[in-house]
Amino acid sequence: MAAVIHYRCEICGTESSNPIHWFMIQCNSDELKVLKWNDEAAKAPGARHYCGEAHAGVYISRWLEASCSPSMPDFTQPSRG
Ligand SMILES: [Zn+2]
Repeated sequence: MAAVIHYRCEICGTESSNPIHWFMIQCNSDELKVLKWNDEAAKAPGARHYCGEAHAGVYISRWLEASCSPSMPDFTQPSRG
């Protein structure tokens, strides 16, 4: 199939059609899983994409903080100004 999928870093918005050095995170309110890039997992529903260790780390930090702060249920929303 010729369709090219562009993935987008959830932290900085960088887009790539071949993000082989990116990371993925799958999580819910009880657990968080970091995956090395593979196309199958990248297409899975609920997978989050990050352009590198630093930005995956940003999300992990938010998730950890939210786990300790039930008053912040919307930690998945990027804070844009
Ligand atoms: Zn990024």
